[in-house]
Amino acid sequence: SLEQGPEGPETPIQVVLRVRPMSAAELRRGQQSVLHCSGTRTLQVSPPGGGPEVAFRFGAVLDAACTQEDVFRACGVRRLGLALGFSCTVFTFGQTGSGKTYTLTGPPPQGEGVPVPPSLAGIMQRTFAWLLDRVQHLGAPVTLRASYLEIYNEQVRDLLSLGSPRPLPVRWNKTQGFYVEQLRVVEFRSLEALMELLQMGLSRRRSSAHTLNQASSRSHALLTLYISHQTAQQMPPVDPGAPCVGGKLCFVDLAGSEKVAATGSRGELMLEANSINRSLLALGHCISLLLDPQRKQSHIPFRDSKLTKLLADSLGGRGVTLMVACVSPSAQCLPETLSTLRYASRAQ
Ligand code: ADP
Ligand code: MG
Repeated sequence: SLEQGPEGPETPIQVVLRVRPMSAAELRRGQQSVLHCSGTRTLQVSPPGGGPEVAFRFGAVLDAACTQEDVFRACGVRRLGLALGFSCTVFTFGQTGSGKTYTLTGPPPQGEGVPVPPSLAGIMQRTFAWLLDRVQHLGAPVTLRASYLEIYNEQVRDLLSLGSPRPLPVRWNKTQGFYVEQLRVVEFRSLEALMELLQMGLSRRRSSAHTLNQASSRSHALLTLYISHQTAQQMPPVDPGAPCVGGKLCFVDLAGSEKVAATGSRGELMLEANSINRSLLALGHCISLLLDPQRKQSHIPFRDSKLTKLLADSLGGRGVTLMVACVSPSAQCLPETLSTLRYASRAQ
């Protein structure tokens, strides 16, 4: 049924795994790579010291040699295209330094106002270009709007606000579902204008107080595009079965996953030490409940965190969700890499 999303109820989350190249620092330390791709869908983990190999299967596995364009292709434009009629979410998951931000938006700029070279542009810039091109060729009137926010310590901060940002409340109503009150939602008409909004948010993110406090890895950033069709009938959705009601495309750069360790069984999440990223834990909890067939009918606790509230419509069956799990190839990161691999393989 359409309520379950176009790919049916049995494919809740598509997972793409990306292994980043060894960093200069890892190479200097003489770190060995413990990850090897086998074919296009299997990742082989060889623990140092000759322990038993473990294999994980994902929708796609991309090794250190893959380009930003390869990652974008693996994400499937057709899937992203469903956002024209659906709610579609792309999020990056992984420990700090694993390449989440690089995958979504490319490397940090070489200077203020210096754009990312096109070859290094991330999934977001590539999707923006694709979307604007598609909307232009539709010939039907479409209104495009964007918002960009950050969640840190369960506080929502508007990355596009005109004045100095203050924490904004998350509310719920019947027509919108969960929404952020007084969030600036900016209408745009060109790719250039959207890129400017992205740059504004990215530079605010980099200069915010908690970034300077080395805690940026604990914040989530959500950029949402709202696509509304002024005349629904004229807008052919990519999927013929999809409704013509407009859509939403959300990109989420999640906080570093190193504070969240998952145990072996579905539905169970264990807290490591006492560092809680409530939103990340709640996300894992909601995903495992959504995936558990026995608990399918049960209540999903989207209300447990700001992040899960804002992702409720995508995760809750009306949308398409794509996870790009990011890992480092180095032996030193192996414990966190295994935890990312388990989390990601359970989500699909
Ligand atoms: P995260 O957002 O997960 O903390 P980053 O995206 O900031 O990690 O990546 C950490 C560092 O590694 C950055 O300097 C980034 O530019 C670099 N990096 C990550 N992925 C790649 C890649 N695929 N190719 C080249 N450099 C990368
Ligand atoms: Mg990052």
